[in-house]
Amino acid sequence: MEAVLRDQLEYLIQLQDIDNQLLELRQERGNLPETVERLRAEIEETTHLLDMRREEQLNAGKERRRIENEVELAKVSLKRYQEQLFKVTTNREYDAISSEIESAKSLIQNGEARIIELLGREEELAAQISTLESHLDKIKVDYEVRDAELQEKIAETSDMENGLHARREKIVGQLAKPVYAHYERIHLAKEDGMGVAQVYMGACGGCFAAIPPQKLMEIASMEDFILCETCGRILVDADSMEKERQ
Ligand SMILES: [Zn+2]
Repeated sequence: MEAVLRDQLEYLIQLQDIDNQLLELRQERGNLPETVERLRAEIEETTHLLDMRREEQLNAGKERRRIENEVELAKVSLKRYQEQLFKVTTNREYDAISSEIESAKSLIQNGEARIIELLGREEELAAQISTLESHLDKIKVDYEVRDAELQEKIAETSDMENGLHARREKIVGQLAKPVYAHYERIHLAKEDGMGVAQVYMGACGGCFAAIPPQKLMEIASMEDFILCETCGRILVDADSMEKERQ
């Protein structure tokens, strides 16, 4: 058993542990900024939608009141024409007034139909606006809570992150350059950031490929760096290392 190599393996395990913690910190934070951003975008969208609905409601109300006035005026005219109808003396006059009556009636009829339509739309819009308003209130609260959480997390994890980076630097300083270079290459290439893999039940703990018995013995003896032939991770045998420590 070569003491230096054993130390190197110990450092590698410590390095892996620090990198796991750093990855965890990033993952923890990595989710929260997205959530905060999603909520912020949703607030913007909902506010925009609410503005549009409110404007439509305003316009529908304006149009309805305009038509209501027109209908009122048409009713007054209709009454006047109907009175005039009794006083006509010529057929020509009769036809002219009849035609005015018809157009006033049709204006009233169309106007009243449109008023009903607009009232229905206004009612629909009022319901939509109220739903959007309560949704907006809810996501605003959600946003504030999540954003505060994120700011807090950034504040509290930055200390932890800096501490981990400082420890990492020290350990890297203890590692032989080619060993660290190999670790770093695998660590950066793998999604789980695992450059060192423990042997579990005769298999690589990183990719789960079976390790030949001869290699298992070499790993346990800690006489050389043994890499997984499948994934390239540096293999360590936790049990043998535990025994060595005692
Ligand atoms: Zn492997």
